[in-house]
Amino acid sequence: MAEPYKIVIGLEVHVQLLTKTKLFCGCLNKFGLPPNSATCPVCLGLPGALPVMNEHAFRLALRAAIALNCQIASHPGQVPGFTKWDRKNYYYPDLPKNFQISQYDLPFSHDGYLDINIGQASPGRQAGGEQTKRIGIIRAHLEEDAGKNLHDESGKGHDTLVDLNRTGTPLLEIVSHPDMNSPEEAIAYLEEIRLLLREIGVSDCEMQEGSLRCDANVNIHIPKADEPKGYVATPLVEVKNLNSFRGVGRAIAYEAKRHYDEFKADTKGTFRFGYMLKTTAGWDDAKGVTVVQRHKEEAADYRYFPEPDLVPIIVTAELIEAVKAETGELPSVQRNRLQKDYGLTAYDAQVLTAKGRPTVAYFEIVAESICDGKAASNRMSDLIYPALAERKEEITEFPIDAAAFAKFLKKAPTNSQDRRDVFKIMLEKGVSVEEAIGIAGIKELDESALRAAVCQAIAANPKSVADFKSGKTAAANKIKGEVMKANKGVPNDLVQRLLDEELARV
Ligand SMILES: [Zn+2]
Repeated sequence: MAEPYKIVIGLEVHVQLLTKTKLFCGCLNKFGLPPNSATCPVCLGLPGALPVMNEHAFRLALRAAIALNCQIASHPGQVPGFTKWDRKNYYYPDLPKNFQISQYDLPFSHDGYLDINIGQASPGRQAGGEQTKRIGIIRAHLEEDAGKNLHDESGKGHDTLVDLNRTGTPLLEIVSHPDMNSPEEAIAYLEEIRLLLREIGVSDCEMQEGSLRCDANVNIHIPKADEPKGYVATPLVEVKNLNSFRGVGRAIAYEAKRHYDEFKADTKGTFRFGYMLKTTAGWDDAKGVTVVQRHKEEAADYRYFPEPDLVPIIVTAELIEAVKAETGELPSVQRNRLQKDYGLTAYDAQVLTAKGRPTVAYFEIVAESICDGKAASNRMSDLIYPALAERKEEITEFPIDAAAFAKFLKKAPTNSQDRRDVFKIMLEKGVSVEEAIGIAGIKELDESALRAAVCQAIAANPKSVADFKSGKTAAANKIKGEVMKANKGVPNDLVQRLLDEELARV
């Protein structure tokens, strides 16, 4: 590491779950509805309204926790699988109940991990050459989201508006250990979480729509021989309002540098651990700086107590098995399988898996059809991905399906420019590979098509065949001439060989 210190990062990630309705009422869980239209007495916190847990939300959260290798509600002194809801009390205009239903001391999942890719992924890296790092997960718990305050940002002092559509949306909070040591590792962690949760259908993880949000806890360790631990740790800063992966990386890099600058300028030792309070800061992406919001005296006192309106849950072994069965293949497992079954490099497997399950399914059909995983992967990179990007399409909408693409690969010219041209014509005109080759005016034919032409010519000339069979070998020249005429530019010796082979079978 170039810097004279170690960056230490822990991330808190909030993801909204992909349910039809909210966590404790029947209101729609949907982004972009007219303000305050998806509300009811329960999520508005009207007196007497009682919450009912959305079982599907719990199942989705369980799916995520299992995928994150978490223990499921395994708490000392409790029945295995026992978890409960707690009230977190605080006042805020976007929280009409004045409390949030969350989980405090007995979360439904804890002590997991996620392996992230930290290698410099490069196309040249071979299978098995990837570098992974294990990031510990402290806990993942389920809670309800708050509403949204819409502040007037014109600077004209208009009112702040409150939209309560988001109130009660199921939210999974995933808290990592401070196991990441660079902005790149933090981004790799977020990318892996997003891929994982999208693949298993837990969340769409759209950062712009707020369905994935992230706070970063950052400080640095500066080596110092006479300290008991051998280093000085700077006071923790929690950076909020991060709304892109790039923003997360920039905020962490900014904070680390600021910590070191302040540490160096700190002659009285006030910046050192124990002398300064934990700070909460916001990230100003446009200016590229963090802005200190408040110093935390101690953990805010939320007066947690068990939620009296909801019964505790006991997660059974049967439920865990059922959820495991519906989760499907995890990205980490898939990457290994693609390397093992199709001979892909770690890099290719990573690229493919990152594109999602429909793309992997497409690849597998192509690879099996042409019996060559590496070629299928390369041709998809050359042709399919750029076309999808240009057409702004998903693979499921792509006009050339996997079977048609496999057929194309079998019949297309070997020359890469010709192949590109034929592919383009197929795509633009919606024609078959044969027609596209014709339109492109490409003479190069693949052997099977040429063999078919030879067979046709044999069938059309029974007299020549009979003459040939009776020993007049020159009679075959008439058939060959016809094939050559109909397929201008094909190599003479190839036609001769195919003709010899086919005549031997007649
Ligand atoms: Zn509601």
